[in-house]
Amino acid sequence: MQPPQNRPRHSIAVIGGGPAGLMAADVLASAGFSVDVFDAMPSVGRKFLLAGKGGLNLTHAEAFDPFVQRYAGRRAAVQPLLESFGAEAARAWALDLGIETFVGTSGRVFPKDLKAAPLLRGWLHRLRGQGVQFHMRHRWLGWAAEAGAEANGLPSALRFDTPNGEQRFEARAVVLALGGGSWSRLGSDGAWVPWLRERGVDVAPLLPSNCGFDVGWSEYFRARFAGAPLKSVAIDWTGTDGSPVRQSGEFVVTEGGVEGSLVYTASAALRDRIDADGSATFQLDLLPARDAEWVAREVAHPRGPRSLSTHLKTRLNLSGVKAGLLWELCPKDVQADPARLAAAIKALPITVTSARPIDEAISSAGGVRFEALDDGLMLRALPGVFCAGEMLDWEAPTGGYLLTACLASGHAAGRGVQRWLGG
Ligand SMILES: Cc1cc2nc3c(=O)[nH]c(=O)nc-3n(C[C@H](O)[C@H](O)[C@H](O)COP(=O)(O)OP(=O)(O)OC[C@H]3O[C@@H](n4cnc5c(N)ncnc54)[C@H](O)[C@@H]3O)c2cc1C
Repeated sequence: MQPPQNRPRHSIAVIGGGPAGLMAADVLASAGFSVDVFDAMPSVGRKFLLAGKGGLNLTHAEAFDPFVQRYAGRRAAVQPLLESFGAEAARAWALDLGIETFVGTSGRVFPKDLKAAPLLRGWLHRLRGQGVQFHMRHRWLGWAAEAGAEANGLPSALRFDTPNGEQRFEARAVVLALGGGSWSRLGSDGAWVPWLRERGVDVAPLLPSNCGFDVGWSEYFRARFAGAPLKSVAIDWTGTDGSPVRQSGEFVVTEGGVEGSLVYTASAALRDRIDADGSATFQLDLLPARDAEWVAREVAHPRGPRSLSTHLKTRLNLSGVKAGLLWELCPKDVQADPARLAAAIKALPITVTSARPIDEAISSAGGVRFEALDDGLMLRALPGVFCAGEMLDWEAPTGGYLLTACLASGHAAGRGVQRWLGG
């Protein structure tokens, strides 16, 4: 491999080898450009590989309209990216790499073997075949202070911390695809935020998204139920736009609170509510398949000498963590009143007081604001520098929406570079 400082200046630097950066490199290399990919880690795609551990949810098969709604407040900015490269394009891209996909029962789309590794392997093989050069253990440190290439409309040399000391690299154009701020041990640590701000780029603070929350359980409840899954439940909450939202699914009781797919769905609204009010409350329906009348009738049914626990278990099939939550969260007077207890079974208020730290979150919100970018995802403040992936200011629930938007924005940034260079 040619050392980067000796490579001609006509190369394009892609910094960050996650799905967004690799897609930008793919678009540019396919168009015949010379591309150098830099990554701080010893290998690329570490978060992508981790995503494959639980079954790589590549995208979602729902219609375009509901799909773009998932990006909520950033829908208008994300929609054009998905119009050029959406769910179908993501599936076609995987197929082109020899990986067939299937639609699961929930509409989520997965590779047939559920894994990320074969997809990444095939992708890297193709990129290397196209001449893309990979520079691992190259941590980008920002730009050299001197004006350097700025005379040509480009920012000055890129600085990298490498095993051989600091090295510089001058590029015709740069794609930053540095990821968000979660799971920093996989490479995306958000260190880039101040470097872009110093250069006049508007960056929204990185916040946890698709994250767990703290509740503060009693020692008794924590000792018995930490780690217990709540299956076949539903939750009601107020969405970020103020409208009521209801969703069924499952989540898990943790040492200090709640996490899991159903909680992640509500996480943006809960996080913002905590930010505004100091806490947020959602309602848990422990028996979504039963209507309120049925529940009220069964709770009120005479129980004779049986304990309330036995009564709930035999007549309503409520036991384990579901019953435990009722005893944990309902005051004694509610437990003693069949009508109020029945109401709690259908809408048990759970108050969360803080989001778990960003490093534990599946993804992050915040990042480079779309107003700081042009249509080709080039930074208005830094001509020749493009941004893609989770480092942009959008968020979405799990379900394949994260990877799709990363791939779509990587694709758009690649096209943006191409247009900017007149290709
Ligand atoms: C446990 C888990 C499961 C997930 N499952 C799914 C799923 O099934 N479906 C889905 O859609 N999404 C999933 N996601 C989210 C998805 O993986 C991310 O949204 C996606 O990887 C972000 O892509 P990216 O290219 O923007 O950034 P990343 O994948 O984070 O890549 C950024 C790259 O930039 C490099 N980098 C950062 N800073 C520097 C620097 N200064 N210098 C050089 N290199 C740097 C990093 O090393 C990294 O390789 C999951 C996430 C997690 C944590």
